[in-house]
Amino acid sequence: MSKILIVEDEVKIARFVTLELEHEGYEVKAAHDGRTGLDTCIEWQPDLMILDLMLPELSGIEVCRRLRQQHNDVPIIMLTAKDDVSDKVMGLDMGADDYMTKPFAIEELLARIRVSLKKHRVDVQQTSGTRTAGKLHIEPASYSAGFGDESISLTKKEFDLLNYLWQHENTAITRDDLLTNVWGYEFTGDTNIVDVYIRYLRQKIDDKYGIKTIHTIRAVGYMFRYENA
Ligand code: CA
Repeated sequence: MSKILIVEDEVKIARFVTLELEHEGYEVKAAHDGRTGLDTCIEWQPDLMILDLMLPELSGIEVCRRLRQQHNDVPIIMLTAKDDVSDKVMGLDMGADDYMTKPFAIEELLARIRVSLKKHRVDVQQTSGTRTAGKLHIEPASYSAGFGDESISLTKKEFDLLNYLWQHENTAITRDDLLTNVWGYEFTGDTNIVDVYIRYLRQKIDDKYGIKTIHTIRAVGYMFRYENA
């Protein structure tokens, strides 16, 4: 069952859409301001978000911008109250996938949701296949990792961290991004936990097999790039 988050401050619209989506078999949560919407999206990890543009606390544009900045790729359908082209353009520029102008027919929203979910599933399949670099390989679908014929035993968190870094190969990722996307919540405290898990990964992979995969990028964070040490 797909999870859908609707962020809409007009409670009547949020309620109506929630009921319709639940009727279609989706699991739904609603938030009524941008801040709560952003937090809920990070914590609950919905499969799709319906995001109103004009919201208290944080605007829809800002919510969208922050999610994309954190490499969160949840499909987003923006709702705009007015037929304002510049708002739509800005929303799409900030990484929204689609938009609808209010008032809208619920059937059209449902159709757009189906299209977005389907497209995203294809995208995810393309990024969640087996990754291979040199003799190192991981299989996200089964959470297995190996070096040549030897299997590498990783905890789920270690695996998620490696997979996330690898997915963004050759890109420096900040500790905050790693916390948000691997640990799955907005972590405000100590980022040392990332360093601890990076150390575990290096012991199990880089040190053990004499390769270099996880690079420290000073003052930023970490980057995946396969090198023979
Ligand atoms: Ca609104």
